Parts: sequence; C-alpha cells; structure tokens
Amino acid sequence: METVTHLIAGEMVSHSNETIEVFNPATGAVTCLMEMGNQETVQQAIRAAEAALPAWKKTPPLKRARVMYRFKELLEANKDTIAKMISEEHGKTVPDALGELQRGIENVEYACGAPEFLKGEYSSTTGPGINAWSDSKPVGIVAGITPFNFPAMVPLWMYPLAIVCGNCFILKPSEKNPSSTLYIAKLLDEAGLPKGVMSVVNGGKDVVDALIQAPQVKAMSFVGSTPVAEYIYSQGTANGKRVQALGGAKNHAIVMPDAELDGAVSALMGAAFGSCGERCMAISVAVCVGDETADRLIAKLTPQIHELRVGAYTQEGVEMGPLISKEHFEKVTQYVNEGVASGANLLVDGRSLKVEGHENGYFIGGCLFDNVTTDMSIYKEEIFGPVLCVVRVNSLEEGIALINEHEYGNGTCIFTRDGEAAELFCDEVEAGMVGVNVPLPVPVASHSFGGWKRSLFGDLHAYGPDGVRFYTRKKAISQRWPKRASHEAAQFAFPSQQ
Ligand code: NAD
Repeated sequence: METVTHLIAGEMVSHSNETIEVFNPATGAVTCLMEMGNQETVQQAIRAAEAALPAWKKTPPLKRARVMYRFKELLEANKDTIAKMISEEHGKTVPDALGELQRGIENVEYACGAPEFLKGEYSSTTGPGINAWSDSKPVGIVAGITPFNFPAMVPLWMYPLAIVCGNCFILKPSEKNPSSTLYIAKLLDEAGLPKGVMSVVNGGKDVVDALIQAPQVKAMSFVGSTPVAEYIYSQGTANGKRVQALGGAKNHAIVMPDAELDGAVSALMGAAFGSCGERCMAISVAVCVGDETADRLIAKLTPQIHELRVGAYTQEGVEMGPLISKEHFEKVTQYVNEGVASGANLLVDGRSLKVEGHENGYFIGGCLFDNVTTDMSIYKEEIFGPVLCVVRVNSLEEGIALINEHEYGNGTCIFTRDGEAAELFCDEVEAGMVGVNVPLPVPVASHSFGGWKRSLFGDLHAYGPDGVRFYTRKKAISQRWPKRASHEAAQFAFPSQQ
C-alpha cells in the first residue's frame, strides 16, 4: 500500500516509521498510509526554504507570476484526476470537488496579478527635494495549516499568493485526506517553482508545534476549527509571528415572509446539505420570520430532504456523500440524539440511512429540526454535518439580534424581496460575509474571505487584497539626493511641513 510522505525541495522524503491510515469515507476502506512528520521533517523544510529565499525574493514579480500561469494550466489539465482524488478521500461528489478546485484556481489567477498589486505607491516632493515610496516586501518563511474539508481550495487560498509575494511556504495539510493536496503541490514544482520555495510536511500537532516554535517561520495562516485556531493564534503570536487563524462557524439564513420561497428552498438545500454540511459556510440555521413563513418553508423543504440522493461519488446522480470519518459520523449522530432529547422537533431523521453496497461508509441522511431554541447544543455548536435547524422569530430585528448573539460570525444570508430589509440586515448583522439571496456568500478571489467574532483570530482575512497585506511587509522609503551647490545647516526641530 502506498505511503504518502513529504515534499521538500522537490523530493519526496521520509523521516519516520510512524504512519496513520487514510480512509475512503464511502467504503470505510483504507486508501493509503500517511507518514507523520516530526521535528526533523520541519527542520529540513525550513533549511530548504532558507536556501531558496534570497534568490526567490529578488526574482521579479512578473517571473514569479509566470510560474503561477503555468501552475494554473497544469491544474486545469489535471482537474479530473484531482477531483477524483478529492472525492475518494473526502467523500464529496465529483462536481463538488471540481467546484472547489475551480475556486482554488481562481486564487492562482489572482496571484498572476502580482506585478500590478506589488508595484507600490509613490509620492514626489513630500518635502524639499524629497521623494517617498512604499514598497511591499515578503515576510520570509510562511507556514500554512489546512483542514480536511477543502483539501484543494483552502491550501490554494494561501500559498499561490504567499509565494508570488516573494515568500517561501511550508504547508501542513489535513492528515485526513493528504493525497490531492500533495499532488497539486507537485504540479507547482512541475510549473517551474525553484526547489525549496514550497514544501509539504504531513503530520499532526507535533508538526504544527514545531512550526510554531521555529523562529525562522515569520507568519502562519491557519484554517480549521475554532479551538485549534485560537491555540495557533495565541501560541503563534506569543512566538512573535504574524498569524491569521480562521475558525468554525454556525451560519444563519433569515427567511422573510416575502422571500421567493422556491428559490430559497433550493438555495437552502444546497447550502445545508452540499458536501454533507461539511463547509464552514454551510447554512445550519434557518431563521424564519413568522410562523407562517416557517410552516411554508418546512412544507417545501421536508419532501426535498427525503428525496436527497445520498451515496458514493462513484454512483450516478449522487447529491450528497458521506461524512469524513467514523468518529465524525458518531459525533454528528450524537448531536441529533441531543437535539431530540432537548425537545426540538426532528422532522426528517437521517440517522438510519443505509447506502446499498456501501454499508461500511460513514453515511447519514439529511436531518431537519423545527422549534429549535438558543439553549440547545444543536443551535449553539458547530455540528459540521447535514443538519438544518429551524428557529422561529417574530421580526427581522429579532432575527438579527439572534445572529449577533451567537459566538460565531462567519457567513450569513437573507432571503427577501425587500431592499430596505436587506439593507438593514447588511448594516446590522455581525458576520464577515453576508449574502442577499445568495446562500453561500464566499467572496471571489479579488475580495478577501473571513469571519467575525470567534470565526477569525487575527486582523486580516484570507486571500485577495487582505492576503497580499498579510504576506507582505510595508517599507516606506524617503529619498533625497544632495545638491552640489547647497549645504544645509543642522535642524534640531522635528522635520515637518510647517
Ligand atoms: P481541525 O481544526 O481539526 O484541523 C485543522 C488543521 O489543524 C489540520 O491540519 C490538523 O492536523 C491541525 N490540528 C488539529 N488539531 C490540532 C492541534 N491540537 N494542534 C495543532 N494542530 C492541530 O479542523 P478540521 O476538522 O480539519 O476542519 C473542520 C473545521 O474547519 C470546521 O470547524 C470548519 O468550520 C473549519 N473551517 C473553517 C473555514 C474558514 O474559512 N473559517 C474553512 C474551512 C473549514
């Protein structure tokens, strides 16, 4: 059986005999083994990055961008292979895997604009004979730690931009599905990236801790669950690093009485059950304004959830795959049990779903709860599964207050035809990404991605213009050339424009 190891300076390297199993969630079968990296693996990646950095940061941005052009072409040429790899280890359907890859490629396309977004700002005559400019310099060696749910897209949020900005990058992907992430990184080598600029170190907490403790690593981008995000943010900053750590979510959609209901139902079906609810932007709470709205929504949603086609990515017409692991399946099932025990009304129960021929897969059907209240664990916590909770409120203002009281603030949306209601919602709601009749308002690559409250630790969002700010340091240069015929006396007052 194949063992996935580490990619350092263009070579696959191995440091230990410690391996873990990687599973196909649709069958429960082991697909490959993955070697757990250690302190020595991290040190080797750092040495490779240190060797590559001086030349890479002096490489003109246009030449760096050309590597990204070739990388984009290779990603497109290999998209079907990559999508199948994602589906096999994650469980999501192939069209969904192709969708995440496409969103990742859009970040590579954005990175190709480096000559434009790195060109800096210039002012002439900021003082007598003085000109000034601001330059964007690379940070140095940057590390990225990524979650299982987007093994292609989330790493592509990070390293194309970091690298095109002149940094070297060490990626620690999720240990649950490492194959597609590694395959993609090898394509970047094939695109002509100098050796050592990008490394992939597989492993778990030990690798992350070694990266946190390494003084050579100047910045860390993290995407994953909130407890780990908080840990990496606090430890990383305590070790003097710049850190952006994106965490978990509980995304609410408000359904107004005037919403175009069929459209809202379709949108909610995709946003709640796509990728088996394992998206940080998944809608997990439908906040209905008025009982009549809730009753009408539920009447339309219920049959559609019953009809969801759940199965393996290899089966024709499947809309929703399995959960990532047996442990996660048990966790999601436990949440549904808790919802029932706490008095919520379970209208659609996916717990007993079986997929023929895939009895050992981690499948659960879509679940719908009504009359959910804010004290219940199914409301308070991120389930990360195909469980949609309906909460009933009396007004838009009450719905906004509910969202604002929640500890997470990643994404949210409103379904309405009323511009005034939508404007109020956009102004008042405390979340980083807001949709108006757009259920998954994941910003395109030229806008940045990030939540508020406990969905993000740090100041700058991921990718787009904030990504450029995160992966660069500003340097302001003031320059004056001495004039031959003049000599100025010393000035002891602070220089100003008086
Ligand atoms: P996770 O937090 O378990 O793992 C994420 C990464 O952190 C992995 O690489 C993992 O190996 C590492 N890790 C895990 N435990 C660690 C520890 N104790 N110390 C150091 N590193 C550790 O998350 P996951 O289960 O892979 O992904 C799902 C979570 O990610 C959900 O909470 C989801 O909302 C979140 N997510 C957030 C966003 C966002 O943009 N906000 C995007 C995708 C996923």
